[in-house]
Amino acid sequence: MNKIELLAPAGDLKRLKIALLYGADAVYIGGQQFSLRSRASNFTLQDIREGAAFAKSMEKHVHVTLNLLPHEEDLPGLKEYVLALEDAGVHALIVASPAIATYVKQIAPSLEVHISTQHSTTNSSAIQFWKEMGMDRVVLARECTLEQIQATSANSPLPVEVFIHGGMCISFSGRCVLSNHMTNRDANRGGCAQSCRWKYEVYANDQAIHDPNDLFSMSSKDLQAVRFIPQLIDAKVASLKIEGRMKSAYYIATVVHAYRMLIDEYMEKHALSEERIAFYEEEIAKAENRPTGPGFYLGMPKAHDQLYGVNGAGVTQEYIADVLAYDAHTQIATLQVRNHFYPHMEAEVFGPHTASTRFRIEEVYDLEDTALDVLNQPMQIVKIKSALPLEPQAMIRKVYDRTQRNVY
Ligand code: SF4
Repeated sequence: MNKIELLAPAGDLKRLKIALLYGADAVYIGGQQFSLRSRASNFTLQDIREGAAFAKSMEKHVHVTLNLLPHEEDLPGLKEYVLALEDAGVHALIVASPAIATYVKQIAPSLEVHISTQHSTTNSSAIQFWKEMGMDRVVLARECTLEQIQATSANSPLPVEVFIHGGMCISFSGRCVLSNHMTNRDANRGGCAQSCRWKYEVYANDQAIHDPNDLFSMSSKDLQAVRFIPQLIDAKVASLKIEGRMKSAYYIATVVHAYRMLIDEYMEKHALSEERIAFYEEEIAKAENRPTGPGFYLGMPKAHDQLYGVNGAGVTQEYIADVLAYDAHTQIATLQVRNHFYPHMEAEVFGPHTASTRFRIEEVYDLEDTALDVLNQPMQIVKIKSALPLEPQAMIRKVYDRTQRNVY
């Protein structure tokens, strides 16, 4: 069956390693120059070099976004930066500007160039153009339906990458000037202020039509494409992309882990039942703090696919600890606390090689062997005894109870 790439985001080196360890085939990151989401771009050239070496050691790849649409003053330094990325061992650059794309091909031919979703490519004829320009892959617009993705992929002369998960714009990606208008911060140069999610008073002919206690705002539900993965694999899509370079390590681990298991199951069994789809949707929901929907996969989103009056995402507190080490002889695990929890509670562990597994946390001790009543100091190092082997790099979360979650 067609081998497909699972492509995950990373905002820093820690998240890059987590994404690869939890099953991504490649990660995409932003450097400190020429990238959108400049606030999410924490990678120095040294970090990129280390990340690319880590990926290479796992026979995986790092892609770097160079996806701003440059103004004249943005161009100096481009050549040095591209050559430095090539030297650092990066596999591909994700580029929006045709000028930058062709320039990269001229000066650094060993780098693949992937045409960014910012370009709103929606058909195979446009992809033919990019092929003639010497490009290597095209990221389709998020506004394509499943049928359009299937048809485009069938006729595409280049590998096609599609988004399967994460945040969506309320407007067409790459075409929004709301932030420019409201704040003079250009969304297409990395400065989006997410003005769509602000709270607005709304007037019609000078008459206020908003509820003063519930001001108007707008955003889309996040994309979640679990049930479409088999069709995307069958359509010979080259890469499945998760959005979210600003997301936490826990979110990335959870989402990547679930999609990895899903892809591997479908590759092995060539089938995915409704029961298994529900299982994977539940796995992903353990890290979701916003409602999700099918995006454009089933056609133009309807009103119920949008969120009005909701301006941001809360933080889930289900992620309670990281596993730092486990001694199989003594059955002692060393943990680092992330969110508060108590001894004698049910928990769930999942890790790079561990499917989600419930177990009971019994006594918890600090490093002086003092029993603790409550764990409420993030980053504290503690010890527990566990007959269940706990894999280093695994994460521990509270047992998920959807009814008690605040999903916004
Ligand atoms: S303002 Fe909203 S819709 Fe526009 S680019 Fe920013 S996030 Fe997307």
